[in-house]
Amino acid sequence: MSVASQAPEYIRAISPYQPGKPISELAREMGIPEAGIVKLASNENPLGMGPLAREAALRSLSGIERYPDGNGFALKSALSRRYGVKPAQLVLGNGSNDVLELAARAFLAPGLSGVFSEYAFAVYPLAINAVGAHGIQVPAKDYGHDLDTMAAAIRPDTRVVFVANPNNPTGTFVHGPELEAFLARVPADVLVVLDEAYTEYLNADQHYDSLAWLERFPNLLVSRTFSKAYGLAGLRVGYGIAHPDVADLMNRVRQPFNVSSVALAAAEAALADEEFLAQSARLNARGMGQITEALAELELEWIPSAGNFVTFKVGDAAAVNASLLRQGVIVRPIAGYGMPEWLRVSIGLPEENARFIAALKQALA
Ligand SMILES: *Cc1c(COP(=O)(O)O)cnc(C)c1O
Repeated sequence: MSVASQAPEYIRAISPYQPGKPISELAREMGIPEAGIVKLASNENPLGMGPLAREAALRSLSGIERYPDGNGFALKSALSRRYGVKPAQLVLGNGSNDVLELAARAFLAPGLSGVFSEYAFAVYPLAINAVGAHGIQVPAKDYGHDLDTMAAAIRPDTRVVFVANPNNPTGTFVHGPELEAFLARVPADVLVVLDEAYTEYLNADQHYDSLAWLERFPNLLVSRTFSKAYGLAGLRVGYGIAHPDVADLMNRVRQPFNVSSVALAAAEAALADEEFLAQSARLNARGMGQITEALAELELEWIPSAGNFVTFKVGDAAAVNASLLRQGVIVRPIAGYGMPEWLRVSIGLPEENARFIAALKQALA
């Protein structure tokens, strides 16, 4: 019997996460220079990293022979001041994916279950399955979270519910009062993981203060990231904010040095760079207008998005995607999410958006 066949059935049943195609891979495959490729596939910040984060990252390289601060004291202090929470409420992660996995590892096990929505972020079922727990997928409503049905799907063995707001890959958004009502319905012994990876892109009407709910709902974990609006996806740093008891359990099961010293330094500096964040949000709003106008002109259906990406329907998405790739434009097919007729495009710089629009017109011609 092979060693691989001895792995638990729940591990062998996992299908791996499909990341956006790297620029270098398409360049190799097509024999075209990397500089000619536009990647709008992974919701990265088209401005790159902010200047303060860059300086801090470079500065942190002197000292790189040392292990990082395993408790992330400086970044936690900065987050604590910024958000008015105690350092003991914080969990730092190697990206917020790590935070999601730590929640699953701390609260789930074989015989227990986790709830998530259809079309929600693919990492939720992965995190649930990797610890041998049972995943309960709840049908979406208008491509977004149906919170009533999700609350009703909670079983006695459920310990975690995942909610992405805005959601990826659909960009759907649930307003604060609806989320608050949902929290009030979820049993107090079930952890609600509120994944706010795109929260920095919300406009003034959409804004809500989930951290203000932590006092009343000690079963809430808010997860955020430096990968999207802060432009640090390659560094891998995110954080969770929760009741100190929840954070303590998650901190016990994380790797002692799960966030690198470069990531810690860059994230701390990025947090202070409000100007860069505002600039990123403005650029995103403009690009969203540019792309959705083009989609309207092409008479394509799209899902209104609160994030830095938009999902649109083209019919034969595999064929359209192949044509885009031949033209050096990388977007994200989402057939793996059960949406084989749709593609997701990240908002880029104006000229990148224009390249995408021209290529899409060509692909549909
Ligand atoms: C991108 C994304 C994340 C964050 O990933 P990181 O691990 O922080 O890079 C988390 N949740 C959702 C819904 C996302 O789209």
